Amino acid sequence: MSITQNIEHVSALIAKAARGVGRDPASVTLLAVSKTFGPDAVIEAAEAGQRAFGENYLQEAIDKQQAVLLLRPDLALEWHFIGPIQSNKTRPIAEHFAWAHAVDREKIARRLSEQRPPNLPPLNFCLQVNVSGEDSKSGVAPTEVLALAQVVATLPGLQLRGLMAIPEPAEDVESQRKPFALLRALQQQLTEAGIPTDTLSMGMSADMDAAIAEGATIVRIGTAIFGRRDYAK
Ligand SMILES: *Cc1c(COP(=O)(O)O)cnc(C)c1O
Repeated sequence: MSITQNIEHVSALIAKAARGVGRDPASVTLLAVSKTFGPDAVIEAAEAGQRAFGENYLQEAIDKQQAVLLLRPDLALEWHFIGPIQSNKTRPIAEHFAWAHAVDREKIARRLSEQRPPNLPPLNFCLQVNVSGEDSKSGVAPTEVLALAQVVATLPGLQLRGLMAIPEPAEDVESQRKPFALLRALQQQLTEAGIPTDTLSMGMSADMDAAIAEGATIVRIGTAIFGRRDYAK
């Protein structure tokens, strides 16, 4: 199937999953994860109506953005950085993206805020939460989300939009839903503490339905749109 057909198919699956739990399909945004795929794939997706693209690898992403801009300056795309953020990479992220999904430390948030160019609107961001409780995974611990949010929500160059998670893979929908339900509960905790947010960035190709059932507002889909990635990135 072509990228165009895949986008239509994934959009239909999102709409079905949303309606199935009584949600408006328009409340779920499809983020097309284009990592490892070239500018032509992005352009094909954009021509099919896709606006938001997710990237993990900084240099690859910036090269791709420039190539797309040269080829198709008419496309107004929205770029999301969804990879882990090292402190020596904050400046180009602050300069080249509309969103950062995986902020998990105060230091990173402060640098992004300071380095956000003043002519751009605040950088939208999510706090990544370690919902699976594994030591190796990045993300703030669930018990520390509120304290971190209180500090980073007021940074002038940033706009806290919500929470993001990448749970451990699980086979059945019931097990997939648990970590997503936790993320939703943590968002509720922020709301009750006077930090309202509008975003739950959760769900990938394999667990999209479970995420939508638990309130995902952004699903990050790569494989189901662009196909399998050649190498393990
Ligand atoms: C690669 C990636 C995705 C997309 O994963 P697929 O399984 O290809 O849909 C989503 N989110 C993050 C953070 C990723 O790194």
